[in-house]
Amino acid sequence: MPLEHGRRSLDLVVTAAATKLMTANTTNAAVVIQSVLADLVEVFGLDHSFVRYNDHSIRASILVAEWPVRTGVPDPDPIGIVYFEDADPVFALAEHAKSPVVFRPEPATDDYQKLIEDSGGFVSTLAAVPLVSADVTTGVLGFVKFADREWQPQEINAVEAIASLLAQVQARCAAEDQLRYLAEHDDLTGLHNRRALLAELDRRLAAGRPGPVAALFLDLDRLKAINDYLGHNAGDRFIRAFAERLERGTADDYLIARFGGDEFVVIPSSPLDATQAESLAGELQSKLRERVSIDGETLTRTVSVGVALGVPGRDTSSDLLRKADQAVLTAKGAGGNKIAVFSEDMSLRSAFRNDIELHLQGVIESGALVLHYLPEIDMRTGEVLATEALVRWEHPTRGLLFPDSFIGVAESINLAGELGRWVVRAACAEFSAWRSRGVGTNAVLRLNVSPVQLVAEGFVREVAATIEEFGLAGESVCLEITESVVVSDIETTRITLAALKEVGVQIAIDDFGTGYSVLSHLKSLPVDTLKIDKSFVRDLGTNAGDLAIVRAVIALADAFGLELVAEGVETEAAARTLMQHGCHRAQGYLLSRPLEGAAMEALLAKRRIVLPFPAPLPTAP
Ligand code: C2E
Ligand code: MG
Ligand code: MG
Repeated sequence: MPLEHGRRSLDLVVTAAATKLMTANTTNAAVVIQSVLADLVEVFGLDHSFVRYNDHSIRASILVAEWPVRTGVPDPDPIGIVYFEDADPVFALAEHAKSPVVFRPEPATDDYQKLIEDSGGFVSTLAAVPLVSADVTTGVLGFVKFADREWQPQEINAVEAIASLLAQVQARCAAEDQLRYLAEHDDLTGLHNRRALLAELDRRLAAGRPGPVAALFLDLDRLKAINDYLGHNAGDRFIRAFAERLERGTADDYLIARFGGDEFVVIPSSPLDATQAESLAGELQSKLRERVSIDGETLTRTVSVGVALGVPGRDTSSDLLRKADQAVLTAKGAGGNKIAVFSEDMSLRSAFRNDIELHLQGVIESGALVLHYLPEIDMRTGEVLATEALVRWEHPTRGLLFPDSFIGVAESINLAGELGRWVVRAACAEFSAWRSRGVGTNAVLRLNVSPVQLVAEGFVREVAATIEEFGLAGESVCLEITESVVVSDIETTRITLAALKEVGVQIAIDDFGTGYSVLSHLKSLPVDTLKIDKSFVRDLGTNAGDLAIVRAVIALADAFGLELVAEGVETEAAARTLMQHGCHRAQGYLLSRPLEGAAMEALLAKRRIVLPFPAPLPTAP
């Protein structure tokens, strides 16, 4: 006889499950789900329950958690992975079922009698509730009672609600896994990326670890020519072939990372002295010199190698990489196809950097900085929702410079704070002038804040004073910070962000998806908006992998109640895809290029752009 449940007590069951499931992440999900199952077994008076996920790529159902845990299970567990093809019909339903099914012995029929006889009096009731996400059946929540059991409609409603929470947890964890993989690997080659390399070097260079740690910095000579003459596709394939060859040419436990376009770093697993490291570089260099055939063209590219050694406890990862980089510059400067071992006199900085550094000193007073503005658009209506200030530098001899070429230099010579202050003041002044002319009163001003700036003493006070001076309400200003700063010093960040919230400004995470570590803090930080990095948006509509990520980020924003803005919308396909999945706010060249101040004011006065695609597009509910 099933327990009688009031609507209220069932609501409590769902709320209790929701509270537990909110804490689930990739590392603890199985345990959290198990504990929810245990609660459900108790409340509903059941004998067994389980959650299984579908892996449609191999057409199988995978056990995630069960309660009670079966004992004496052989290894491998025969029901750990079940392929739908071989599964019994009841099980196979879990592949595509969209609504709950209860399998109950039918007392009224002869079958029931037969069933009882066949099973020696043993009957059971199975309730299977599918997990469904974006119309795909992603798994099943199942309950077993070793007796006939009637499931009341309100009980089914309750477990359906729990199944939908489970589907959300599943989507969130999948997003987390995917972002983590992406965060540590290079798309093109599958090698480790810069972040993974730095993490490994940090480990290897910790005090007390064996040393010296050798770093071999490899740089393909003249790859640019392949890109220029054969196209980027050929360049990419060449890089991939090079990466494979590099993997084959090194011992299994070496760490190989792609550091940038045509730059690779190899870290041998055991300590090497300078002579050993140099001879390893020589070996690699000759292995990598073989021909590669691309589109019928036989290509050879030589490689320059820079070698540097780091001493655990003395050198940092960035010291070591900087030295290896300087060594490779020297090798290239000597005509390429060379090996150079780092020495102190290489510490000269490149001419460009020197020049930037020299001029940057006086730039802030000289009025050579200007702001351009990138509108943020509601793609359903064309309405201008916000305007992002982007700094540019009118360089005396090099023309208009973009921030990527000078913000890093400014940071390294302690000018970032001053530059950032100028941006905040100049943008607030201009925005407030527009508003005084009745323009942009509903729009938000977005400002990029560099990591150094965010954690600098007095930053919050300055922001508060500036918005007050220009009569701007806090919520009409949004500060954009990058993920790396959030994570590098989480405690300071937490305090600073909380203080900024007191001031009333909004906070956005810029370039979201390029670093995963912020995910685990999202719940606890006062963030309003995520901006999906343009690298995921650019090829939407043609790249299924990117779509999966963007959908995951959309689900994530949904789960945490955050606003979402897509960056870098360049094509109609990308715009359509985003809207189909419920992301309506975007920036990108398709909608507008960055504009000079006057043009931005004019656009804000018009309030909307003319959409570059036939509106309205179908949107998600
Ligand atoms: P961000 O904040 O992610 O800004 C967006 C960048 O993407 C801008 O480049 C913008 O011009 C570019 N962009 C927008 N739509 C598209 C598109 O459809 N395709 C492509 N390929 N690019 C698009 P920009 O102005 O060169 O700025 C680069 C980065 O420099 C910014 O990235 C931001 O992180 C930083 N930055 C800009 N202004 C400031 C500033 O005042 N202070 C600080 N600390 N950083 C700034
Ligand atoms: Mg930004
Ligand atoms: Mg960005």
